[in-house]
Amino acid sequence: MEIGFIGLGNMGMPMALNLAAAGHKVTGFDMTVPCPEGIAQADSAADAATGTDIVITMLPNGSILRDVAIEIVPMMSPRAGFIDCSTVDVESARHVSGYAKAAGLLPVDAPVSGGVTGAAAGTLTFMCGGVEAAFAKAKPVFDILGQKAVHCGPPGSGQAAKICNNMILGVTMIATCEAFALADKLGLSRQAMFDVVSTSSGYSWSMNAYCPAPGIGPQSPADNKYKPGFSSDLMLKDLRLSQQAAEAVDADTPMGQRATALYERFVELEDGAGKDFSAMLPRFVSRRRAV
Ligand code: NAD
Repeated sequence: MEIGFIGLGNMGMPMALNLAAAGHKVTGFDMTVPCPEGIAQADSAADAATGTDIVITMLPNGSILRDVAIEIVPMMSPRAGFIDCSTVDVESARHVSGYAKAAGLLPVDAPVSGGVTGAAAGTLTFMCGGVEAAFAKAKPVFDILGQKAVHCGPPGSGQAAKICNNMILGVTMIATCEAFALADKLGLSRQAMFDVVSTSSGYSWSMNAYCPAPGIGPQSPADNKYKPGFSSDLMLKDLRLSQQAAEAVDADTPMGQRATALYERFVELEDGAGKDFSAMLPRFVSRRRAV
């Protein structure tokens, strides 16, 4: 296939390289990053999208996605696939999908889970929203870049699934970290805490697979001085998207709201920016009870 790839950052670059390694002709464009060997350099997003079978975008947010869509959609051939893998607000995903569909394209919102490691290894999970034909068109790409692609429903469903998942993740990471900090003060060893919780009803992905305590459980960013991994900044972005969505549909998400406020404080006022989102543990350890 001929594939246009727009947004060659931390995630987009390894994804584009994996597609090229699988034998596809990839043409790339990024505002700041030049294309590496193996990917043809386009002069603009429109240039990267012209005449391709599929265009993939991996961009920072919904407003940039909307701008790029305005630029590329008129250049794309009818029935071409438009896969947006960025994490953006549900509203922007639906808007861009509608715009692309009106131009005869097959759009899918397909945000990912798995981070830069999953992008490099080709083991991402894709959460997809779009009509069946659009999902089918995108499927060969998901097969190369990921271990799983779930078709969640109509346009916007992929983004909805992503922010609901990450709202759970933010909340459970905070709960895991505050419980470790409490256990410390109660004189419980971290190993005992892990051994019990990871096999009891408090278990979660945060505890079992990504333990925020260094030296405990499987290797995680905690064992690497909280170098991300998944940064607190990106967690804050996703939590904010969850709250934006909750407000739009009048859903009551008090734990998501509290998690958003805590990560906001951590990233903007404390020293959480640039650290893994599990660095909430040393934060709780160093704090006294809020009054
Ligand atoms: P990044 O900032 O490294 O990459 C984004 C790239 O988009 C940058 O290189 C930037 O120059 C480029 N860009 C911005 N505007 C552009 C434009 N108009 N035209 C062309 N290129 C443009 O971000 P990332 O970590 O690669 O994340 C990309 C998306 O994936 C985000 O939506 C993020 O939330 C999501 N995501 C990231 C991770 C992760 O672990 N990094 C995990 C899951 C999802």
